[in-house]
Amino acid sequence: MSKNGEGILIVVSGPSGVGKGSICRALQQRHADVCYAVSATTRQPRQGEQDGVAYYFISEEEFLRRRAAGEFLEWAENFGHYYGTLRSEVERLQQQGKNVILEIDTQGAMQIRSVCPSGVFVFILPPSLEELQRRISGRGSEPPEVQQVRLMHAQQEIEMAPMYDYQIVNDEVERAADQLMAVIRAEQLKRNIKKEKADC
Ligand code: 5GP
Repeated sequence: MSKNGEGILIVVSGPSGVGKGSICRALQQRHADVCYAVSATTRQPRQGEQDGVAYYFISEEEFLRRRAAGEFLEWAENFGHYYGTLRSEVERLQQQGKNVILEIDTQGAMQIRSVCPSGVFVFILPPSLEELQRRISGRGSEPPEVQQVRLMHAQQEIEMAPMYDYQIVNDEVERAADQLMAVIRAEQLKRNIKKEKADC
């Protein structure tokens, strides 16, 4: 997907509740060249989540129709709901020269690796499983049995961390955001060198 002159595609995964969203929002607010691609989902909005900002909240019927039309770069089913990255959203932002962050699960990340091997894959880890459990239950938006499923799923996701290019521990959002930005800047430098060599 990414061509010379286009921004980098940064795929950020990590267990539910690890704080990926807070890290990505912090980067987007501080760096004009970093943008978060809004995914589509069939799950209900949580309190405070706005359509078109947190997600595009769409019906299952619409999701399946758009999936059949090939509108998703990748998609996955999580906790009984569909989630997918809109191809048009990523292309629009990359064409503006933005470095585009996809905050997606490990199933989606592996699909992106096959269609966009030049992407940068970053896994966000919690400081500990106990802390993750505290964060998931602290969110208070879901019943305990759903929280339990999310925690079990989180453990499975964490096992995938070694497949990623980078791992960042989110013990503090600001610090984790700085580390993610350092990864993006380092990747930009690496690509500039490669491009210069190709131009010689
Ligand atoms: P949540 O319901 O907590 O917002 O998200 C549940 C999981 O779905 C998280 O792991 C999140 O990263 C993942 N997710 C969000 N958007 C997408 C997407 O577009 N594609 C895939 N594959 N996963 C997504």
